[in-house]
Amino acid sequence: MNEIPELFGRSVFNDRVMRERLPQDIYRQLKETINEGTPLSREVANEVAEAMKNWAIENGATHFTHWFQPMTGVTAEKHESFISPAEGDSVIMEFSGKELTRGEPDASSFPSGGLRATFEARGYTAWDPTSNAFIKENTLCIPTVFLSYSGDVLDKKTPLLRSVEAINEQTLRVLRLLGDTEVKRVVPSVGAEQEYFLIDREAYRQRKDLILTGRTLFGRRPPKGQQLDDHYFGTIKPRVKEFMRDCDEEMWKYGVLAKTEHNETAPSQHELAPIYTNVNAATDQNQIMMEVMKKVALRHDLVCLLHEKPFNGINGSGKHNNWSLTTDKGENLFSPGKKPAENTRFLLFLCAVVKAVDEYQDLLRISVATAGNDHRLGANEAPPAIISVFLGDELTEILKSAEDGTLYEGKKNTKMGLGVHALPEIPKDNTDRNRTSPFAFTGNKFEFRSVGSSMSIAEANIVLDTIVSDALCDFADTLEKAADKDKAVHKLIADTIKKHKRIIFNGNGYTKEWEEEAARRGLCNYKTCADCMPHYLDKKNVELFTKFKIFTEREMISRCEILTENYCKVLQIEAQTMVEMARKDILPASVAFSTLLCKDISLKTSTPETGSCAAEKRISVKLGKLIDDLDLKTEALARLSNETKRKSDYFAASREYRDKVIPAMEALRKTADDIEEIIGSDYYPYPDYCELLFGIDG
Ligand code: ADP
Ligand code: MG
Repeated sequence: MNEIPELFGRSVFNDRVMRERLPQDIYRQLKETINEGTPLSREVANEVAEAMKNWAIENGATHFTHWFQPMTGVTAEKHESFISPAEGDSVIMEFSGKELTRGEPDASSFPSGGLRATFEARGYTAWDPTSNAFIKENTLCIPTVFLSYSGDVLDKKTPLLRSVEAINEQTLRVLRLLGDTEVKRVVPSVGAEQEYFLIDREAYRQRKDLILTGRTLFGRRPPKGQQLDDHYFGTIKPRVKEFMRDCDEEMWKYGVLAKTEHNETAPSQHELAPIYTNVNAATDQNQIMMEVMKKVALRHDLVCLLHEKPFNGINGSGKHNNWSLTTDKGENLFSPGKKPAENTRFLLFLCAVVKAVDEYQDLLRISVATAGNDHRLGANEAPPAIISVFLGDELTEILKSAEDGTLYEGKKNTKMGLGVHALPEIPKDNTDRNRTSPFAFTGNKFEFRSVGSSMSIAEANIVLDTIVSDALCDFADTLEKAADKDKAVHKLIADTIKKHKRIIFNGNGYTKEWEEEAARRGLCNYKTCADCMPHYLDKKNVELFTKFKIFTEREMISRCEILTENYCKVLQIEAQTMVEMARKDILPASVAFSTLLCKDISLKTSTPETGSCAAEKRISVKLGKLIDDLDLKTEALARLSNETKRKSDYFAASREYRDKVIPAMEALRKTADDIEEIIGSDYYPYPDYCELLFGIDG
């Protein structure tokens, strides 16, 4: 398609547009703000606002909004038109620098975890010039941060930007100590691979559970699931292909580099990967991507499910967060180099990540903790709840010889020692095979695979950037004190491996043996949000975030509360939806089928020549027991969820959901699914798994 280059970024106020439309001097000052964080003058803001408005209006926009990412996990916007009254009952289209840089949405309804009392409704948004503004439908969207009036963080972008600054600063310290005087800026690069399910819209409409909770709360596994592995990378169905083409086009307009698409493991599951970019843009783009996918699906009479576990017994969806560090010279600090010095640098940065992940396993686990993702982590599919690092055999061997101070003997008879020879090239295939690892080194980047498909990638990257900053800060502190830097670097690498190698695991993460081994190694294994969330406020974690000024302790307490509250609310909604579906649909359907059987039995027994009705009787007895059971379990769940709902302490409530409500939900589901197996298809009140998963035809 020739028009793609023209299409690309058409809806974005990007560098090209800025250069075209801004006076040279203003453009230069804006770039300074973007690249170096210098404050923006009112004059520049006014000029940018004017250019942005004119560009937006020419491209069909009538409104603008500050586009921000509150703690709800989705983006928020409040549209205002450019219209301003003018003389003679006319209007002019206006947009000032002030409106561009600062907004005051009525913020009282966004989660704040007690940071902003509801009577103090004022929160404000402030322009983030490092992420491009874009037009969505008729609205100019301006990426912004969101803070309370007293300056407390209420969103995901502010801490992300802070963590980017922290890692830049600490990386530069280490680079200087390694003798690098040229690199001026280092930014995390991220490519987030997005998994999702596509199902038929009509089938979706008939399922209250999907509509209200995003996942099926009932449903028996179909005879065919993913056993044959015939969906992964299989031929894409034409209807899905059309959806993908439409999605690509839309995303290209937003400047999202949508690149690879393929079918995933489970039936109806797919993946979309963009080309990586800086973490701030990648985070914004992933939000746009999710929005576009949902919207475009509807145009094709499909529904895009982003939930982590829409179907029981079938793989869930995640988001692989590919992460690396890129310098302003375009170098990737996790690329094994050809020269000895590069090779030492590579190992040092690799060790920083190993140390960071080991010391803050809990924070990484918390960064991906939601009620939805709990179903995925630790199930027999996605990465386990235990965080470990996969390096591959060769790299592990290299680290081992670095630890022992011996020469590494590579496969091709290459020998190397630290600072002596170049690292052997690490073939991607060697490192990319272990799909069970939550945190895998894949050649020149780390792939954090525990992130849930519906989540913003902000939390995971805030944690990643901050914990690696901490490790690098420790390294820099040590190296600064050393007289012989070369020797000190080698010792640092050896010491770090010795101390943190327990986090390295190259085996199969799904097995029971690994769970036992991990326990012996003292690694965390937090299976649910209720287990991990309280650790957010552990002393070492508060010290970490406050040290790098990512959060204040107050902000951390509020975030912890918001996340825990959210966990409880999701489970409350799920439990109530189950009760409602069981009472209103599944029970009546079961009774109807049972009545049919009973009528049949009584009719036939009055005419003996029609047979003994043995089958009907057997089924009827079985069904009768199940109906009884269904009713008891429904009422038990209703009672438990009501009791738990009344608890005002969210931490106590989260444990009750884990220990009482979830088991009651599972028990009810088991009975309902047993009923589904017995009653006639025409009687079951919802489209079944077969229809949901295989409903999209050719
Ligand atoms: P897969 O993991 O499916 O084999 P790739 O490894 O090619 O696919 O890429 C997965 C994602 O990782 C893509 O979004 C890609 O842009 C991103 N990626 C590739 N290199 C880097 C890097 N150096 N830093 C961050 N992300 C990267
Ligand atoms: Mg991948």
